[in-house]
Amino acid sequence: MGSGCKHNKGDRKEFLRQQVLPDRCRHFINGRYVDSADGEAFKKVLPAYNESWFEVATGGASEVDAAVTAAEKAAAGPWSRTSPQDRARILRRVGDLIEANVETLALAESLDSGKPYSETLNGDIPRSAKNFHFFADLAAHQSFETWTGEDGSQHTSIREPLGVTGLITPWNLPLYLATWKLAPALAQGNTVILKPAELTPLTATLLCELLGEAGIPEGVVNVVHGFGAKSAGEALVRHPGVKAISFTGETTTGSAIMRDAADGLKKLSFELGGKGASVIFDDADLDLAVPTACRAAFRNQGQICLAGSRLIVHEKIATQVIDRLLENVKKIKIGDPLDDTTTMGALIANDHRDKIAGFVEYARGERVGEILCGGKIPAGLPAHLTNGAFYEPTVIADVPQDSRLIQEEIFGPVLTVQTFKTLEEAIALTSGVPYGLSCSVYTRDGARAQKFARSVRMGMVWINGWFIRDLHTAFGGMKRSGIGREGGRWSLDFFSEYKTITVAGV
Ligand code: NDP
Repeated sequence: MGSGCKHNKGDRKEFLRQQVLPDRCRHFINGRYVDSADGEAFKKVLPAYNESWFEVATGGASEVDAAVTAAEKAAAGPWSRTSPQDRARILRRVGDLIEANVETLALAESLDSGKPYSETLNGDIPRSAKNFHFFADLAAHQSFETWTGEDGSQHTSIREPLGVTGLITPWNLPLYLATWKLAPALAQGNTVILKPAELTPLTATLLCELLGEAGIPEGVVNVVHGFGAKSAGEALVRHPGVKAISFTGETTTGSAIMRDAADGLKKLSFELGGKGASVIFDDADLDLAVPTACRAAFRNQGQICLAGSRLIVHEKIATQVIDRLLENVKKIKIGDPLDDTTTMGALIANDHRDKIAGFVEYARGERVGEILCGGKIPAGLPAHLTNGAFYEPTVIADVPQDSRLIQEEIFGPVLTVQTFKTLEEAIALTSGVPYGLSCSVYTRDGARAQKFARSVRMGMVWINGWFIRDLHTAFGGMKRSGIGREGGRWSLDFFSEYKTITVAGV
């Protein structure tokens, strides 16, 4: 793996190509990089430059089948019987190797997704290493309860690996979310097939280089590239050898996966769309609340399932909050993701940018709300970025609750603003959407914060903060935001099944 990211601006493209970009992202099956059986590949576009610098092998049923065969063989081998402590040692090494290659992986992630390098370097990739360290330790220290029956019998429920598991991940946090699933699946002794989003195949491919070095046997981790519906993703879901699917992505894709998995009665975990809110009461510390709400709306170009894409503010302080918010938005610097001063990079693709622009055009055309800033493709970008997938951070005020802008996931840099008078109204606005993943509430009144947190239909609520995570806790959403929970022991539960062993009393 290349060693660093300090690039020579004179020959930027060639330098980057040599550092991190392969000519082709190949599948990783049974410990080897392979092309598709039919040689099919598609051109991967780098969203900031709208240029294609490499190809990606297009997998389908035959690559999935080869990967399942390799994973089944590996599942029958020593990996599932290795002690949790020995597996933990290997997984910790994967985490260490990710840390040792943080600059290369961060550069690859930034190029592939368009997000700022400073964020992949300080956020996404360190967190990917942490996923391995955390789940290695957690699984190594798991214990099983034993109950004693009236007749002296001893009953113990233990966890066992499922066997071959399928992981399907989205493009917004590519390595971060792939490792969020890989680490617990492996820690529990499973073998895996990962299908990354076709828009961001690079870091999953690079990660495979580190697995053998860490001591993961061949066939334990397999990566198949390709598309979702009627392609590699669907083939993975339908394959009879795959026992469980952990999926993160859009709600409608979750429904399709559920249908395709039904015949095989597969275990499913779904982390789906979100429509989060930042709710600011009139006693809130605005020095904290406003910049945090701004970050919650626009970090990662608004492409985070946990994004606070709705600002719900007490009417008494609405003017003041909006003024301060717009000051914060003005400080966002759109630019080349590789530039250290950039705080907003490119969206994932031009067609995704057009979808977001469509929501704003709808607001403009139908006179829904008032566009306070943004609402267009930024002007004045350097020449090499002019075809990239950039869009200005956009704030739209006075949006009615039943509007598409409130009810649908936009998944881009668009923040709506609504006002409320009472706690009950704030709760109703926050919960009054089809999604139920997360929200933040800002207030100095502890009782009010608790009442709000316990009343809203959201899987995660932050009081006076946003995206503060502890990996022990349950992660997931209510309503159309998901089924099941991952994180901590919930991940260990998902990636295993219980067996109860009873010793008769003496
Ligand atoms: P998609 O649902 O479009 O894709 C996610 C993954 O599923 C991709 O690998 C995709 O492949 C694959 N896929 C698509 N169709 C099928 C199918 N029929 N069978 C099997 N696999 C399929 O989501 P996005 O990539 O667009 O990601 C954005 C979404 O993810 C947003 O809705 C966001 O809220 C959600 N998300 C949720 C999180 C959570 O924790 N709740 C966290 C992060 C994101 P391909 O890319 O080739 O289409």
